[in-house]
Amino acid sequence: MLYKELVDVYEKLEKISSKLAETEILADLFKKADDETLPKLVLLSQGKVFLPFEGKELGVAAKLMIRALAKASGASSQTIEKYFKDMGDLGKVAEYIMSKRKQIVFLKKKLTVVYVYNRLREIGSYEGSGSQEKKLLAISGLLMHAEPKEAKYLVRTILGELRIGVAEGIIRDSLALAFLKKHPKEEATKWVEYAWNILGDFGEVALIAKNKGIDGLKAVRPIISRPIQPMLGIKANSIDEVLKRHKVVICEFKYDGLRLQVHKKGDNVWLFTRRLENVTKQFPDVVEVVKENLKADECIVEGEAWPIDLKTGKPMPFQKISQRIQRKYGIEKMAKEIPVQLNLFDIMYLNGETLFDKPLRERRKILESIVNPVEHKLQLAERIETSDIKVLEEFYHKALELNQEGIMLKNPEAPYIFGRKVGGWYKIKPTMETLDLVIVGAEWGEGARSKWLSSFLLAVRDPDTGKFLTCGMSGTGLTEEQFEKMTEALKELIIEEKGKTVYVKPKIVVEVSYQEIQKSPKYESGYALRFPRIERIRIDKSPEEADTIERLIELYKSQGKAG
Ligand code: AMP
Repeated sequence: MLYKELVDVYEKLEKISSKLAETEILADLFKKADDETLPKLVLLSQGKVFLPFEGKELGVAAKLMIRALAKASGASSQTIEKYFKDMGDLGKVAEYIMSKRKQIVFLKKKLTVVYVYNRLREIGSYEGSGSQEKKLLAISGLLMHAEPKEAKYLVRTILGELRIGVAEGIIRDSLALAFLKKHPKEEATKWVEYAWNILGDFGEVALIAKNKGIDGLKAVRPIISRPIQPMLGIKANSIDEVLKRHKVVICEFKYDGLRLQVHKKGDNVWLFTRRLENVTKQFPDVVEVVKENLKADECIVEGEAWPIDLKTGKPMPFQKISQRIQRKYGIEKMAKEIPVQLNLFDIMYLNGETLFDKPLRERRKILESIVNPVEHKLQLAERIETSDIKVLEEFYHKALELNQEGIMLKNPEAPYIFGRKVGGWYKIKPTMETLDLVIVGAEWGEGARSKWLSSFLLAVRDPDTGKFLTCGMSGTGLTEEQFEKMTEALKELIIEEKGKTVYVKPKIVVEVSYQEIQKSPKYESGYALRFPRIERIRIDKSPEEADTIERLIELYKSQGKAG
């Protein structure tokens, strides 16, 4: 299949906003692909080249892209930078500049989907010294063969900002429509989603749907070393509220750390975050203790790893765990300085048997039967099962006294439900409601702060369009060291600069407290946070997990100011 066919679809998707129409266009496209093309086509339609658990990125920033464009088009870097300032989208710049280029390319190739995908993966695999130059050559080589419109989307894909917002739900529905049309829609989408929850790759799911149908999807089982979508909790305002829904609950401490999905096969162990990133290398201490003390040939279990002060047995500040995730060198030393304890709370797979459908109460028993607790290193999550509100309140206070974050209330009858759905887990924390927001822009500081980006433009997510809508600006809450690191990180993400303001790719999530939410025409969301303060940098969360515009409105209304 020619890359141009995909580009035509991108163009159509950019113009329409009806979900149904988008689904149909994508389904038609997917039906046309052969088996080699299909998985690659599906990923590229999402703007993806690598999957989160592969731990790879294309690693190309705007600067390098400008050089590659210069090389491919014959225009100077300065000219391209100027266009970039005006247009704010290097994709559009590429389209424009490639339509104007004077160089003639001999033996110009027609790009195919498979060729483009393979080249992009290759670009992402260049590492170490000289890799930037290799990337530059490969990108400009690819662009030279591209038509202007193709160049637009190649550039956007390489920079990781396709901007057409094909949400996962649309890919799911279009696969169901393309390959499972003879089944009722609900049934078809359910099993596409199931397979995606387990495999994490719509490309692979597409191939199964196409060749093996719904039974093939139903037969999908977890693969050890491949993370599955985690079950998440819903915020509850009170214990009482949860008891009204479920008579009896399992209540656990909500530990303040990093969620780890642990895979074990013989002596091999893999650790994944809830964003499905592989962090095995960063936690050799956890690997060691798990290897020795989980009595199973093969299993997938889950728990929270939190930084423990060995003298008191209480948690160290949450930010310490971030240091462990970010560290690339001297990992063993850091593991000693910031030890972690893993408290396990669930099991999804044991020795060939999938446990998702078993009720939590039963999963917990199975978990208990395979864990060998080790002091200060590996424990089961502290837990009670009761219907007594007094007992639950006491348990909650005990969690807080031990400096943990709060409690999780869980329906003992619930299966393991992927994602954030009602009826499974509820979380209760005492802190004032905070919002997880995405940084979409920033301003350079003044005076002593002029070397830093010191004020950050915050945004909520609009799940319907995949866009981020601004709702406030904050420059408080970070330490000097954090300002410096944040500046470094944001500089890599800049997509547009206007005077002192920069706009960045929506990548970094921060937890923000505030005094009040007000209606305001100043921000895209229509609301503004008063006195927002950054409480934490949530490196464990992806922009897709940021709070939504609906949540912001809900919180606004709960202030008693609806209307
Ligand atoms: P939140 O990050 O506010 O959405 O809260 C959900 C997170 O709490 C999970 O993803 C886990 O990282 C964490 N957590 C801590 N203790 C538990 C527990 N006992 N059960 C489930 N999740 C827990």
